[in-house]
Amino acid sequence: MRKSTYAYISGIAVMLLFISLLSGCETPDHGDLIISKTNGMYNTTFIAMDTVMSFSVYGSNAKDEIYKAYEDVKAMEDLLSVNLLGSDIYRINNSKGNETQVSSHVTDQITVAKKVSVITGGALDISIYPIVKAWGFSQGEYTVPSKDVLTSLLDLVDYRDIDVSGDTVKITEGMALDLGAVAKGYTGQYIADKLQDAGMTGGLLSLGGNIQLFGKKPDGSLWKIGIQDPADDSSTVGSIAATDCAVITSGAYQRYFIEDGVTYHHILDPKTGYPVNNGLLSVTVIAKDGTYADCLSTALYVLGYEKAVEVWKSNDGFEAVFVKDDGTVAVTEGLLGIFSENTENVYEYSYICR
Ligand code: AMP
Ligand code: MG
Repeated sequence: MRKSTYAYISGIAVMLLFISLLSGCETPDHGDLIISKTNGMYNTTFIAMDTVMSFSVYGSNAKDEIYKAYEDVKAMEDLLSVNLLGSDIYRINNSKGNETQVSSHVTDQITVAKKVSVITGGALDISIYPIVKAWGFSQGEYTVPSKDVLTSLLDLVDYRDIDVSGDTVKITEGMALDLGAVAKGYTGQYIADKLQDAGMTGGLLSLGGNIQLFGKKPDGSLWKIGIQDPADDSSTVGSIAATDCAVITSGAYQRYFIEDGVTYHHILDPKTGYPVNNGLLSVTVIAKDGTYADCLSTALYVLGYEKAVEVWKSNDGFEAVFVKDDGTVAVTEGLLGIFSENTENVYEYSYICR
């Protein structure tokens, strides 16, 4: 039988790029980045970290600040890329068991990731890179590895063997890290903090659907965030009004390939090496801190609904929306009356992370 393999990566995001390029464009006067102005906010859309990013920022001098944010994202991408020769992650992954001196951006992410690994019993494990690579997700050359290959690579996966000390990182020879589950949340948080330090009064930063919010819109209202229906990229399962927090979603639908009629997606179980299949279609985590939210969204997706709720019960500082494959949506208690499943966007309360 002829093998058929194809991949899907966030079609809606690419559509957004074209819509934004066609609407309200201004002459690019910041390199080749197009920055437009609508309803008092500056907006830009660009590709980085293998996804489409859209920023909307409000405040005096926002046009210059949004350009600086774009440059910061590009610099972060260069630091974190697994494929870029000389990036911090590349150097760690090729360190042959020696200590590697890296940026605090890297040590900070590893530290938060390790904490989330502990509270989720290893559901998040950033040393999963050998497995991610075997499936071809990091290179875009998708393939189904044999069970034997996965079993032998699993010996290399253990977050407890990642040592961070000051500005150095040490992993066992053969191990390799992938910050794919953390980087966009961390970067969104970092950019939002910088924009606020620069005096910006409001911002919505979407890094491939991972949202970081601060302040308010020019009309004084909060941001309204739709949570995508994993089964239909043109609709949502509901929405919330929020600010000063991260709204971060993990889902099989965000990156997958189909081979011989079987769908294989990018969120992998560190215990088996295979894509998780536990009845969840997506998990959205809402938390003050973007890095924490990104780590948790991946980990809770791996755990499945029941175990994820246990993690929520025993840890503070986040709420979650679960979309299940039976078509139902469940939310944690803190979102009752806030997450709105109706289409008229009637909000009883708004969510402000503290
Ligand atoms: P996210 O979209 O934040 O859920 O992150 C998914 C990405 O993290 C994947 O594309 C992989 O690069 C990586 N990844 C997959 N499974 C795991 C896991 N169990 N722990 C840590 N990283 C993972
Ligand atoms: Mg994540």
